[in-house]
Amino acid sequence: MGGVGRVVVVGAGLGGLAAAARLAAGGHAVTVLEQAPQVGGKLGWFARDGYGFDTGPSLLTLPQVFTDLFSATGDPLDTVLDLQRLDPAVGYRFADGTTTAVPGRLAEIGPRLDDDLGAGSGAQWSALLTRAEAMWAATEQPFLRSPLAGAATLARLARRLDDVRTIAPGRTLRGVGGQYLTDPRLRMLADRYATYSGSDPRRAPAALLTVPWVEQAFGSWYVRGGLRRLPEAVADRAVERGATVRTGTAVTEVLVEGGRAVGVRLADGERVPADVVVCNADATALYGRLLPRSAPVRRARAALHRVTPSSSGVVLLLALRGRTPGLAHHTVLFPHDYDAEFDALFRRKRPVDDPTVYVSAPDDPATRPDDDSEAWFVLVNAPRHEPGGGVDWTAPGLADATADRVLATLADRGLDVRDRVRWRVVRTPADLERETASPGGSIYGTSSNGARAAFLRPGNASPLPGLFLVGGSAHPGGGLPLVTLSAEIVAGLVGPAR
Ligand SMILES: Cc1cc2nc3c(=O)[nH]c(=O)nc-3n(C[C@H](O)[C@H](O)[C@H](O)COP(=O)(O)OP(=O)(O)OC[C@H]3O[C@@H](n4cnc5c(N)ncnc54)[C@H](O)[C@@H]3O)c2cc1C
Repeated sequence: MGGVGRVVVVGAGLGGLAAAARLAAGGHAVTVLEQAPQVGGKLGWFARDGYGFDTGPSLLTLPQVFTDLFSATGDPLDTVLDLQRLDPAVGYRFADGTTTAVPGRLAEIGPRLDDDLGAGSGAQWSALLTRAEAMWAATEQPFLRSPLAGAATLARLARRLDDVRTIAPGRTLRGVGGQYLTDPRLRMLADRYATYSGSDPRRAPAALLTVPWVEQAFGSWYVRGGLRRLPEAVADRAVERGATVRTGTAVTEVLVEGGRAVGVRLADGERVPADVVVCNADATALYGRLLPRSAPVRRARAALHRVTPSSSGVVLLLALRGRTPGLAHHTVLFPHDYDAEFDALFRRKRPVDDPTVYVSAPDDPATRPDDDSEAWFVLVNAPRHEPGGGVDWTAPGLADATADRVLATLADRGLDVRDRVRWRVVRTPADLERETASPGGSIYGTSSNGARAAFLRPGNASPLPGLFLVGGSAHPGGGLPLVTLSAEIVAGLVGPAR
């Protein structure tokens, strides 16, 4: 495009901020408008009595994406953030009582699985990852780092027949995982990666096996001081490059004249003119509420009905007395019946009776009042907030009953902390929706359920000239690295200022 001057970014989630930093560095006059009192969107922070919790993401993967963002916009990442590679990456406990702690370095994973899950486990896992590595090589550039372009995207992917065979379009993560893994515990490990995009492994494409590959090859990372430091640092970078960030400023309408975006209207009626509008609000909100009706908007809105929203989660923030010896930074406690969990989330749309429990317990002084305390972020998958058709998470007593059940489940699986809880905060999908304007509290925007889901996700270029989409509900999808890549794609589509 080129030559654009004024850019308005609607939303200061990581995707919006990364787009703002890149566009400001490209010479545009950028204004970011965020409805919440602070930046970061789902990357929230909760502090009380000396405890501090990330309320959203707890795991950073694909660090190179963030390194690229910082070096493309100014000083390198390590001058502003302290990234720590986690080792072990994650501790697992299966329903039969087996435990394993997956190391943070790829070469050590096979031997560890052999020791903990039985000889041959490492070889099976490595064979799966070799396939996943090939999938990554085939999809990273043409899919994750490029704009969606309908048939052209498929053509880019299909250029080499071998690549198509590798990616196995039409096959599911469960299907291809099961081809390599015979042990039900290894299969659970693979299935879990579908939940990284709020999806069902029985419907998500095999290409999602790239997620364990990138996690194990490039590492699992933590940001010292909490992951919320990431959006703060990106916002600072955008401001350093001349952008303005206005919090507490809700956008109620994207203004369209002559078929192109010309600015936005704020809740107080103010009009902010722009040559380019970059929307980091959820695509459903953009096409459903923020844009005036027109044929292209109606078509984009109808297309959204073809993708399943990602699942949500219930989060417990636990302010604990004392420390848990030997606890990994991340721990996953699996249930007996994983499929019952996916049935509850996607088919029955009911709270999960016996959920997988994820605990993130950073060993970071920024999260605790003293060294004899710890702050736990506990997450269980949950269906979205859907009063009427699904679960109404505001129903009296539901949040507390769910939290009690999660604490009892933790106790059943060997982590009983009930007598160490100083206080707890429960955050439901309804809270997530209210605070981050994410419809239904979907964690990752749209899920990857269905063979074609990846191609049905809204593109980064909207059908209206001058209007672009960035963030988890648009291409290439949710999760911190992908939303940051979506910002790179948008900055490329807009181009530098002339
Ligand atoms: C509990 C939880 C755990 C997660 N764990 C991980 C993890 O471990 N690793 C990982 O990589 N990802 C994780 N994620 C996903 C990750 O948080 C998201 O994919 C990512 O943060 C989304 O970024 P985004 O740019 O799409 O914007 P969002 O964070 O969704 O931000 C959008 C912003 O737009 C603002 N906005 C919306 N509408 C308007 C409007 N009309 N006017 C002004 N502002 C508006 C919102 O207030 C919000 O700040 C997790 C998410 C949650 C909720």
